[in-house]
Amino acid sequence: MTTMKAAVVPELGAGLEIRELAVPEPGPGQVLVKIEASGLCHTDIHAAHGDWPVKPKPPFIPGHEGVGVVAATGPGTTLHKPGDRVAIAWLGSACGHCRYCVSGWETLCEAQRNSGYSVDGSYAEYAVADDHYVVDVPDGISPLDAAPLTCAGVTTFKAVKVAGLRPGETASIVGIGGLGHLAVQYAHALGARVIAVDVEDAKLDLARSLGADLTVNARSTDPVRAIADYGGADVAIVTAASPRTFEQAYASLRRGGRLSCVGLPADDTITISVFDTVLNGKQVSGSIVGTRNDLADVFALHAAGRTKVIAEPRHLEEVNSCFEEVLAGHVPARLVFTF
Ligand code: NAD
Ligand code: ZN
Ligand code: ZN
Repeated sequence: MTTMKAAVVPELGAGLEIRELAVPEPGPGQVLVKIEASGLCHTDIHAAHGDWPVKPKPPFIPGHEGVGVVAATGPGTTLHKPGDRVAIAWLGSACGHCRYCVSGWETLCEAQRNSGYSVDGSYAEYAVADDHYVVDVPDGISPLDAAPLTCAGVTTFKAVKVAGLRPGETASIVGIGGLGHLAVQYAHALGARVIAVDVEDAKLDLARSLGADLTVNARSTDPVRAIADYGGADVAIVTAASPRTFEQAYASLRRGGRLSCVGLPADDTITISVFDTVLNGKQVSGSIVGTRNDLADVFALHAAGRTKVIAEPRHLEEVNSCFEEVLAGHVPARLVFTF
């Protein structure tokens, strides 16, 4: 039996353990992917901590920014063959025939499986995945770049689209981490004026270098006041994992503004005024990752040189200290485990 190294959540709230496990066999319709790079999304930390109402069942392997090469295929696979480079995203699989799946909203499928949450993910040397739901990574995109695009990229690309951001509008991006650093670039590429909000100056410097017109350190400056002085935001995309930031982002919208909730704080209740929402014609919506097609678009844009991924490679053995670094906000955008 061949074995592989994997990072396992033994129980919710405990540190991850590096274990030597059997390499999984690809079942019908599955591919076995030899992982080259796997990004550390803040969602993996929420998963390991059991932060959300729907909890994963330990032991499990996190990871949904997995990029690697197909090593073997199970019976009945038709789309991929050994040697293909693919990405394993949060949407591990969906039913393919419900009203959501057939209308371009497969990310809302009630029968979906989520990589690194309800099925084992990519914090391992190998992972099995659905032949129909892995997404091809174009030649010319390195695994180190492709990994963060697989969740952070597709999620913010989708949020910008769903919020209906238009050229000339002002977008505030709250939280300039893995997600936020790409959100800034999509909003900028679309022709919006971009306000970046974070609590770390280094993140704000990065945002400026990626196209932000105004930066606000919410630790030292009131972001609502600073954004009001700038004219208010038409769209606010919140990726920070704290309820207060959503309320501030809502308060900084101008009339007709749209709040896009993307971050998923453990303490997930916010208070907003119905009166303010009605009289000022504001909208509040949630945005969950993106489809396979959105990810293909994200890869194509990156291959065309429109986005820059800021990522640092790490070893899987460092997973627990990497979680600490992300929580401390001391990470340049994304950490990526490389194999
Ligand atoms: P990250 O840790 O890389 O980035 C979070 C950023 O928020 C950091 O730069 C941090 O400094 C900043 N921040 C913290 N407190 C702040 C505050 N009070 N004001 C402004 N900024 C603040 O995390 P990430 O990987 O980008 O993920 C962000 C969130 O998005 C997580 O909750 C994650 O679970 C969620 N997420 C949602 C989706 C989705 O589909 N909706 C997809 C992926 C991730
Ligand atoms: Zn993610
Ligand atoms: Zn479905």
